[in-house]
Amino acid sequence: MSDDTIFSKIIRGEIPAERVYEDELCICIKDINPQAPTHVLVIPRKAIPRLADATDEDKALLGHLMLSVGEIARKLGVDEAFRVVVNNGEAAGQTVFHLHLHILANKTFSEGSL
Ligand code: 5GP
Repeated sequence: MSDDTIFSKIIRGEIPAERVYEDELCICIKDINPQAPTHVLVIPRKAIPRLADATDEDKALLGHLMLSVGEIARKLGVDEAFRVVVNNGEAAGQTVFHLHLHILANKTFSEGSL
């Protein structure tokens, strides 16, 4: 699996994306093919292919990503109701092999379902 995914190109500014947040460890962009009225992706600058590839070395980064989700949700005004999804592996629907967290909001989620 190559590090040079579309997300690495977006992080380097080689491909445009609508950034809603960024800091020293991650960026957040609007998804190009939104599955909810609010659909953004939180992407670490470090290219970890899949969540399952993260190691102990990435503990602080993973914590930072989760805290960033809360901060971004507040910034977008959706912190009362949102979902976070991570697809791990092709069979689970992962298409870009650079770890990212989907934040989905402003849609009616069925109670108790995924
Ligand atoms: P995955 O299926 O890997 O969990 O999610 C990849 C997501 O990246 C998809 O929701 C897809 O719409 C989004 N995506 C793919 N290419 C681009 C792109 O070039 N720009 C943006 N903003 N999103 C993209």
